[in-house]
Amino acid sequence: MGEHKDCLFCSIIAGDIPSEKVYEDDTTYAFKDINPQAAVHVLVVPREHHANVAELAAADPAQLAHIVEVAQSIANDAFHGDYRLIFNTGADAGQTVFHVHAHVLTGQTLDE
Ligand code: IMP
Repeated sequence: MGEHKDCLFCSIIAGDIPSEKVYEDDTTYAFKDINPQAAVHVLVVPREHHANVAELAAADPAQLAHIVEVAQSIANDAFHGDYRLIFNTGADAGQTVFHVHAHVLTGQTLDE
């Protein structure tokens, strides 16, 4: 489950590719999405490589719960605690990076 070769987000977590860090701790890293879809658009990822949210939930449910905690904390700081949390799961659902990541969209009213 460690660092995966040719995984973009493993490379970002390792610091080999630059990112705009929002938060980090021993298990979790959060950084700004390069193509933001809201005033605040942050990706929250576990340091351990899991391909998608279902695999993470099965392997390490506490880590999934922690990702939700981190998302909440980001939204508390950015926008009175309201946010949209998205896990695209599978290519046909729009997943393009196969290292599980939560999209946290916040910082503005989201009406659609
Ligand atoms: P997905 O489509 O749900 O897999 O989300 C992948 C996200 O990663 C997209 O929203 C991209 O904009 C974002 N992304 C791709 N490359 C980078 C990068 O180098 N830094 C930050 N975000 C990235």
